[in-house]
Amino acid sequence: MTIRLGERGIRVVLLDIEGTTTPIAFVHEVLFAFARTHLQSYLDAHRDSGEVAEVRNRLAVEHAADVARGDAPPSWSIGTGDDAIRSIAAYASWLMDRDRKSPGLKLLQGLIWEEGYRACALSGEVYDDVPGAMRRWRETGVAVAVYSSGSVLAQRRLFESTPHGDLMPLVDRLFDTAVGAKVDPASYAAIARALARAPGEILFVSDVAAELVAARQAGMAVVLSVRMGNPPQAAAGEFEFIRSFDEIG
Ligand SMILES: [Mg+2]
Repeated sequence: MTIRLGERGIRVVLLDIEGTTTPIAFVHEVLFAFARTHLQSYLDAHRDSGEVAEVRNRLAVEHAADVARGDAPPSWSIGTGDDAIRSIAAYASWLMDRDRKSPGLKLLQGLIWEEGYRACALSGEVYDDVPGAMRRWRETGVAVAVYSSGSVLAQRRLFESTPHGDLMPLVDRLFDTAVGAKVDPASYAAIARALARAPGEILFVSDVAAELVAARQAGMAVVLSVRMGNPPQAAAGEFEFIRSFDEIG
């Protein structure tokens, strides 16, 4: 055991997902691929829903901004007919190709994933050491929280549907970027306030050095997650690191 929570006065372990609890490949090769494959069929099946109307409204604003910038996105059709639905799908694919942080796309992906989880066509993935570590920490009175850029709903579905069973009973709180960006120290201060803990009582685990820097600036203890398949981090040497949650106890 490299990191002894008790000795360091840690009361909450705050976990990143992608590259920390879950392989980065799951997000890219399973989740993103699923959204892309089911884009057109989802939009066709739900074209008159309030959710798709909200997606369309958000994307229309983003599309106008792309046109104004001269980015030349695929053409946009107004309404709910076949042309309009095809144009939403084409623009969403265009945004995915560019890996855009688009609010409209994120909402649409979330809706597609939600349907996939509900139909059991999607299930969550975590590294084998994750469930046991969560149980071990909680048995010693240490809470488990999650902070990820995926929405709270998407996080919940992931942890509910793992091959190890429903892990949500082991998770005390979920945070997404509604609290702020993962590289902003203010986000970590807000999480500490929400958990009613001093930042120094929280250990943040992430595979991204820039996130650890932000959390450390807010006063949290930090540790770098080094998992197979994670891209190497510049300045990794300035952090303690773990290769498995078995090293945190
Ligand atoms: Mg990550």
